[in-house]
Amino acid sequence: MQDKLQLTERKNIPFFSLPLWEKTKICGHGFSSRLGGVGVERTISFDMGFKGGENPSRVLENRERFLAIWGKNNSVLCTGEQVHGRRVSIIGREELLAGRRAFPKTDALVTAERKAVLGAFCADCLLVFFLEPSVPVVGIAHAGWRGTCKGIVSRVVRIMKRQFAADPQKIQVLMSPSIGACCYEIGVEVIECCRRSSWKEEMVLYPAGKSGHLYFDLRASNRNVLMKEGIKSNHIFGNDFCTKCDSSLFYSYRGSGGKITGSHMGIIFLRDTGSDH
Ligand SMILES: [Zn+2]
Repeated sequence: MQDKLQLTERKNIPFFSLPLWEKTKICGHGFSSRLGGVGVERTISFDMGFKGGENPSRVLENRERFLAIWGKNNSVLCTGEQVHGRRVSIIGREELLAGRRAFPKTDALVTAERKAVLGAFCADCLLVFFLEPSVPVVGIAHAGWRGTCKGIVSRVVRIMKRQFAADPQKIQVLMSPSIGACCYEIGVEVIECCRRSSWKEEMVLYPAGKSGHLYFDLRASNRNVLMKEGIKSNHIFGNDFCTKCDSSLFYSYRGSGGKITGSHMGIIFLRDTGSDH
């Protein structure tokens, strides 16, 4: 299936990608699993984040190995601070020439520059990848429950429209593995956030079990927000992976009982015309 996120392998590293996007050759993209890295002690073994207790030099080496799949390296990786907000930073030529790679208070990045690789990190949260192939322009957003309630994916679509003349009808969206509604029991704080959200109609919560506790569906909620912004439903590529259910492939914050855990990395970039990678 061309439109299903698949676990694939290149240079001995398993990762997730969408065959449809691989085929177009407009962008490179991928989402790491927990397999393929150099770290072995605490978090087996492909930790991409600095918060999980892995040795920072190993984290950098893991990122380097992952980026090397596409012939890229850490020097071109642009990332946001990821504060569960809704700020979208645009990476233009000026930012690249000034050597800016880290974007404070930012949870989403957008660029039309071919020299930038956009990256984001998660362990249960959702990463959302954007491509408007006719501009072309790409984006990536980090969406946990806070970002989802704040409508961060809507901000990305609006910025792509306003700043890059992207056509929502042509925007394609890929969702990463994340914690599934099966495992995402939520408490008062999340329920209140959904109720107060300007996107409350789009938020998807399920009551489950005798307890009547509520479960939050990150992917369905973001899908609804995207469709409200004019994205076509057949341009939104979801998946059924749950990071908590499958600990052989994924790190999970909840699966670790709320302790620190490793992080996955998602990347997307515009390919150079004629690139082989
Ligand atoms: Zn699950």
